[in-house]
Amino acid sequence: MVPEQIIIFTETILNMISSKTSFIALIGNPVSHSLSPIMQNAALQYLGLDLIYIAIPCKEENLELILNSFKKINCKGLNITIPHKEKVFNLCSEISPIANKLKAINTLKLNSEKEWSATNTDVEGFIYPLKNLNLGKKKSVILGSGGAARSVIQGLINLNLSTISVISRNKSSLDELIKNFDNQIQLQGLLNNDDQAQILIREADLIVNTTPVGMKTTRYENNELPYGETFWRSLNSKTIVYDLIYNPSPTPLLKFCAKKGCMTIDGLEMLVAQGMRSISFWTDGLEVPFHIMSDALKKYL
Ligand code: NAP
Repeated sequence: MVPEQIIIFTETILNMISSKTSFIALIGNPVSHSLSPIMQNAALQYLGLDLIYIAIPCKEENLELILNSFKKINCKGLNITIPHKEKVFNLCSEISPIANKLKAINTLKLNSEKEWSATNTDVEGFIYPLKNLNLGKKKSVILGSGGAARSVIQGLINLNLSTISVISRNKSSLDELIKNFDNQIQLQGLLNNDDQAQILIREADLIVNTTPVGMKTTRYENNELPYGETFWRSLNSKTIVYDLIYNPSPTPLLKFCAKKGCMTIDGLEMLVAQGMRSISFWTDGLEVPFHIMSDALKKYL
């Protein structure tokens, strides 16, 4: 951020705060890298609400205390991020079916009894850039078997894809993930060094990267591709490649795939769209245009 942007940002925030201002908070550890305050404050300002959004680092041992304390003050909602997405289950009195299914919560609000009501907006966020691409009955491949892969599988089920194959380096998380969605769709898991992986890559209509490989600020800050460049040798130019990573833009994977002629989608739209759904949950249905949040973010990326 350049100094002029810091001044504009600070003035904007100061103009938003009064003695009646309530807040929404992001709770996680760490949270200092999060871009959510930037896009959420832009959205709250657009809606003209007397609300600000702040990020609060929280250790696991303080989670219950913080959630209980926030019920008693003017907190209107929360986002929950790593590592608390599963641990908050015990602290909520209402949990939406989608959060139960994913075993992860990312958004909370207080209900009429002043208890936490929880949901997960990641699936809607993931689907957002895919909605108009007519992917029904198409073949998909997911790379990685962590938390985000769970939302991606559910999103692809909702979009009615005919096959979903998860390719991972981690056999135990892969087996657990496949078991979790058993019997719902033609879903298979295989390890990245399995010979069949190349056939799946060649035939895929959509490939989604959920590994952190290629992400800035990790040790993968180089031109590395998930599972190495040879893994991508059979990629077809008709395949759509979706990388959940949004920084750098484009990611090394999307740069490589665009050169091959593929349509590419980065993680920014998912980030913004899950944030839009959270706003809607906190405000009982208010909508913020996508560009209000994405334009705010692009200034910082
Ligand atoms: P996670 O739970 O840690 O899962 C990451 C997965 O990637 C695991 O299967 C992990 O395998 C695998 N992996 C890690 N390093 C790898 C490597 N060097 N080579 C191959 N596989 C590797 O993380 P997550 O929560 O699913 O998030 C994954 C990525 O998605 C992150 O980059 C995150 O920022 C991004 N994301 C973006 C959005 C968005 O809104 N755009 C939302 C959610 C997540 P192991 O278990 O063996 O380590």
